[in-house]
Amino acid sequence: MPFHVSSDEFERIVTLALDSISPPLRARMNADNLMIIVQSEPGDDDRDDDIDESVLGYYQGGTGSVFSAYEYPKRIVLLQHHIEDWCESYAELVDQVTDTVLHEVAHYFGMGHDDIRQTRLRH
Ligand SMILES: [Zn+2]
Repeated sequence: MPFHVSSDEFERIVTLALDSISPPLRARMNADNLMIIVQSEPGDDDRDDDIDESVLGYYQGGTGSVFSAYEYPKRIVLLQHHIEDWCESYAELVDQVTDTVLHEVAHYFGMGHDDIRQTRLRH
């Protein structure tokens, strides 16, 4: 049973998750104008044919290879409904949002999934 909240409430949880990131890292994200975007569902323009309901969020931009032609600012997209689908309580939602934000922020800082496992962040 998905646990749904309003988009305002969801963004408040995202803000809390971002607050858990250490200030030096957050300063780098801010200086780089990294955008954190909440979407209810993947958009038509997301270019990602492989986004299914198991994808909770993703990072776009700045890898220097795959997205080298990408014109948008670097951004982390969080898929609210996909995240909510995995949660049955407010506490689970907070945990899942935090995990997803930290996972995508790790990608932003250039970490691959092997590195992320080492930091014990879940996919
Ligand atoms: Zn990942």
